[in-house]
This record gives sequence, structure tokens and C-alpha cells, in this order.
Amino acid sequence: MKPIFKLSSLTNFFFHLLFKEKISFVGRILFTSMCLTFIFYLYFKTDILPEKVYISAVCLITACLFFGKTAYLMIHIPLFLLSVIDIHLFKTYSLSMFSAGDWLYALIPDTNKTEISEYWSKIAVFEKTALFTGLLLSLCCLFYTPTFKIKKSVYFLIFMIFPFSYVEHITPVVYYHFFDNEDNILQKYRHFRFDPEKKRQTAQNVIVLIGESHRYPEFHFSFQKYVKSFKHLYEFNNLISMHPGTMNSVPMILSRKKFTDQTKYFSEKSLFSLFEEAGYDTYFLHYTDNSKERNHLSFIYNETQNFVNYHPETEGLHDSRIRPELSRILKKDKNKKLIVIKMMGVHENFENRYPPAYDTRKPSLQYVTPEKNKSFPDELKRKAINFFLSFKAARQRQKENRELILNTYQNAIDYSANIVAEIMDFIRKQTDPSLLLFSSDHGFCLYDKGFLHLPPNCQNAFHIPAMIYLNASLAKESDPEKLKNLSCNLNQPLTQEYLFETVVSLAGIAYPSAQKEYDLTADCKNLKTKRPVETLKRDHLYYYEDL
Ligand SMILES: [Zn+2]
Repeated sequence: MKPIFKLSSLTNFFFHLLFKEKISFVGRILFTSMCLTFIFYLYFKTDILPEKVYISAVCLITACLFFGKTAYLMIHIPLFLLSVIDIHLFKTYSLSMFSAGDWLYALIPDTNKTEISEYWSKIAVFEKTALFTGLLLSLCCLFYTPTFKIKKSVYFLIFMIFPFSYVEHITPVVYYHFFDNEDNILQKYRHFRFDPEKKRQTAQNVIVLIGESHRYPEFHFSFQKYVKSFKHLYEFNNLISMHPGTMNSVPMILSRKKFTDQTKYFSEKSLFSLFEEAGYDTYFLHYTDNSKERNHLSFIYNETQNFVNYHPETEGLHDSRIRPELSRILKKDKNKKLIVIKMMGVHENFENRYPPAYDTRKPSLQYVTPEKNKSFPDELKRKAINFFLSFKAARQRQKENRELILNTYQNAIDYSANIVAEIMDFIRKQTDPSLLLFSSDHGFCLYDKGFLHLPPNCQNAFHIPAMIYLNASLAKESDPEKLKNLSCNLNQPLTQEYLFETVVSLAGIAYPSAQKEYDLTADCKNLKTKRPVETLKRDHLYYYEDL
């Protein structure tokens, strides 16, 4: 009987290839094996469906043996990149593109260059090596085209089944980008008006200061030393964000969007428009230029009359630049002002969020970086040292070094508490009635339950510092009953849903559709229900109280 496969014919085929083709052929086999290994790794470690794995294997192997270079790379590159990202997400956060792809994709416009370059240090050496090798192998594959022929229908079949392979993990992102189907909401949004009553509002200046990744226990501790300086300060002790990320939590501070509203956009305008309708000049201070993007946050940001990027440089990214900008705006004219500020806060990496003077708890992850240099070789050397040090810090950012990470976080929080107190002091010094709301956007898990930041499986991912400060002039003009109610609600189990109406009421703005049930100055609440939170798990609804 004639053997179907002869090893000699394969070796014959290989030795007849040109040198370049030999390398390329080996590259092809290696790249395919690499992709298969990654996908099988994910199959054994996570709950990926077996059908996806089999379809992927068929597509990869067929393309490896029979496809021309373009078609080969069209199959391999998406599968390869997606599997590397998923391995990273799984190992770092116990997530995947399938569970949190839309959420992560929505974050991109709210991320600046510094955050991206800082993120590089969080990618494991293995993952970087895999990316580099994959890129090298795919380049190498360009020099060989198989001579074996197959039927056209097989090509067709492979491309037809390819979307059901491992690349299916990208569907949440595709859906988020192309099929939001929320035109009707945007239509309502464009025509929305608050129509506030034409009466004199009480507050001249209203500052809404939004923190970043500040969680309650550490912030409360750091802020204690400033409390005495502020007489009419109302600190909420049991207030949570309901989302673990900026994109979804900020709209719950700046608009009346509630947790039950799970759509991307919101049919109402935000605090900016309400205050503008009431006769205020509106300002928004941010450390990026993200108002140009199209997403649910930029819709809100675009409502402001004045957008100020307070940190145009990308190095040394912390909040020291807010004060001079704020001072300039407050002195500008006598108009009533709403100033919303988004802090950089303690966004990872914590060691970059505070100046060296605040590096008091040691050991910490902060490393001393040399000063900026004018001469090119010295600046290059400085950059190289910085790169090495950030690499070292990244290696230390491990569960075993929780103490080190907590020290760094608390140092950064000390600095943020100081910034918040200084901004509050601007309000204290105003002779006109003025008010400040400070609320973090969301909290943070610091290995409370095994993970750093994501998945948000701990209460501290949601328990946030939030407080309202009235200067003497506003406290004097305010209705004592309102302030009594506010004091009464400080320990209630609250969410960010209550901040909008409370600030509006304290500013003295009244409008027909106001939701009194969310106004903490309206009555003394007696809240008992559990508070739902977004944990990025889609199996069932999770409650803060059960985390
Ligand atoms: Zn955030």
C-alpha cells in the first residue's frame, strides 16, 4: 500500500526552498503554534467556549498551510493580538475582552499620553516578549507563499467561520462602537431644558471638585488635620459610587443619571446647562483635552462654556496646576460661576501623583528622578534612568509588596487631601456666598480581595470621600432647616445619585422637575435598601453591602 505521507517529501520540499523562504516558512509554523498555544492556554484557564477554540484551530492551521501572505496575516494577527490582550487582562485583573471590552474601550478617550506610557510598565516582561516575537514572526512570514492549492470554497468557508472563532471576544467593543442605537436618547438630550425659576440664586461661586480613585478610609484619615479650618463642612461617611470607573461614575455626579439607567448616553443635560440657564458662567478644568472625543462623558464636558486644560505637559502629572488656574478664573470678573474640576488625583501609578516632599511613608514606590535637562545627551540619560526606575517600580508592584503599595497610595492621598483643602480655602476666602462639593469619582481595591483596581470586588472600590463646604457668607444666607437636614443625612447609606439635587438646592436654584427625593437638604432620610454596584460581572446584580 502506498503511504499517504512521506517525511522525505516534506524534507525535499523544505530543502528546495530559497534561504529567505526557509526562514519565512519556519516563521509561519512558529507563529501559528504561538497563536494556538495562547488560545489553548486561555481555554484551560478561563471559561472560553470549546467551539471557539476548535474554529480558531481550524482557521489558523488551514491558513498556515494554504493561504497567501495577506490572507495568512488577516487570520493570524487579530487572533494573536486579542489572545495577548486577554492573557494580560486575565493575569492582571481576572477579566477578558469579552467581559469588559466595551468598558475598557470607553476608557480610551479619557486616557492621556502619560497614562498610556505609564501603563507600559504594568505589562509583564513575558507579554512584552510575546508581542515583540509575534511582530517579528509576522514580518518574517511575508517572504513565503505556499504553492499547495486548495479549492476556493475552502477559503470562503474559513473566512465565513472566522468571526465565530476566538475573535468573537471583540463583539462587546464592536457593538459599543457601531450599534449604540441611542439616537432617540440624543434627540431628547439636544432639546432638553431645565427652565429654572427666574429668582435670585444664593451662591455666587460653585465649585464641583471631582477626585480620582480616592477611597474613603485613606482620604478620611489624611483630611482630618484640615477639618478644623472649615466651619460649615459636611462630610458624608457612607456614600458610594455605583460604578468602578470614571466614564460611568462622573455622569452620576454631573447629571441626574441613575444606576437603573443602563444606556450609554443620557436624555438630559448636565449641571453645566442648568447653571448656564440660571445665569452662571460655566468652566470645566481637566488635565486632558478630551472634550473633542465623542462619548457620553465628552457630551457632558462639551456643555461647558469654557474648557481649560490645566496640565498641557505630560510629565510630572499631578494636581499642583489646578490652583493657579482656579485663582485666575475666580478673579476674572464678578459673574456667577460654576467651576467643575476633574482632578488627576491618585490615578495609577500612585508614585507619580505627588511631589517628593510627600514621600513620608517608606518604603514606597516613589523613586527620585533627576531634574529635567536642557542639553540633549543629559536629557536622554535622564529619560533612560527614568525608564529603568519605572521598570523597577513595576516589578515591585506585586501582591507580596502590598505594604509598599499602600504606603505609596497613602502618600499620594496626603497630597490630594492638601490640594482639596487648598481649593476649599479659596472658597473660604470668598466674601460672596460660595460652595464646594468634593466627591471622588470611584474608589479602588488595593489587593483588599486579591486584586489591584480590577475587578472591583471590594467595598473600597465604591466607598468614596464626599463632602460639601459652605463659606460663612453662604451659611449665613442659607435656610437653617436645609442645613439641619443635610447634617441629619451625613451617615445615611447614600450614593452619588444624591449629589446633583443637593448642590443645586444649596446654590439656591429651583426648577420645576427637581427630584426632591434625591435632595439631601429637603428632609431627614431613612434609607434602608441595599445599593447595587457595577462589578464588571454580568452573571447577576451585585450589591455593595454584599461585597
Ligand atoms: Zn477615575
